[in-house]
Amino acid sequence: SDHALQYPPAPAAVDWAEHYPAFAGTGRAPEFADIGCGFGGLLITLAPLFPDTLMLGMEIRVQVSQYVQDRIAALRVSSQADNPAGASSGPAPYQNVSVVRANSMKFLPNYFAKASLSALFFLFPDPHFKSRKHKARIISPTLLAEYAYVLRVGGIVYTITDVKDLHEWMRTHLENFPLFEPVDEQTLRDEGKGSIIDAVYTSTEEGKKVARNGGDKWLACFRRIDVDR
Ligand code: SAM
Repeated sequence: SDHALQYPPAPAAVDWAEHYPAFAGTGRAPEFADIGCGFGGLLITLAPLFPDTLMLGMEIRVQVSQYVQDRIAALRVSSQADNPAGASSGPAPYQNVSVVRANSMKFLPNYFAKASLSALFFLFPDPHFKSRKHKARIISPTLLAEYAYVLRVGGIVYTITDVKDLHEWMRTHLENFPLFEPVDEQTLRDEGKGSIIDAVYTSTEEGKKVARNGGDKWLACFRRIDVDR
C-alpha cells in the first residue's frame, strides 16, 4: 500500500534542487519520466547521453527505489572522482538523474506539470495477465489522459514488453486515444532518437532478462499530437 507515502500536493511544490543540486536555480524540471523504473537501467544509460535533460524514475517498491537512489548517489561520487571539478565543462555526470518512490498510477500529475515532459517510458511493465486484473495495468484510458496532460506536443511515449497480449493492449489503447498517434521505430531513429530506442530495448534489468531467456520484445511508440491541428 502507498498510504504511508508523502506526496507533493502539486508539481510546483516539488523541490527539484534536492534531486538535482547541480541544476539548482535553473528552474529546470524533469523532461524524461521512466514509469516503473525498476532498478534504473534506462536512466543510468540515458543520463550521460543527454546531460542537460533532467530525468526522473518513478518506482513503487521501497527497496527498489532506494537501490536506484543509492546507485545514482554512488555514480555521482565516482564520476566526480574520475573527473574533478574544473576538468570538464557542463554539469558533472549523473547530476541530471533521480528517482522517487511513488505510485505513478495515482500521483503522476503531482510531480509533472502540464506539457512538461518530452518523453515518457513504460518499459516491461507488469503484465497483470488475468482480465479482472487489467484495470491494474499502467496503460488505461483514464491514465492515458494523464499521460497526454504531462507530455508536451511532439513528446514521445515509449512502450516495450515481452508479453504479446500486453503489447496489443497498450498499442490499441494508445492508438484509440485522440491525443496520440503511432510513430514507427525508423522515424524516431531518423529524428535522432536512435540512442533512446536502443536503450529502451537493451538497458533495463527486465529487458536484459528477456534477452537472456531468448524472449521477443515488442516496441510501440506514440507521439503526443495537438488536438486542433
Ligand atoms: N522498467 C523496469 C525494467 O524494464 O527493468 C522494471 C520492469 S518491472 C517488470 C515493473 C516495475 O514497475 C516494478 O519495479 C514495479 O515495482 C513497478 N511498478 C508497478 N506498478 C507501479 C506503480 N503503480 N507506480 C510505480 N511503479 C510501479
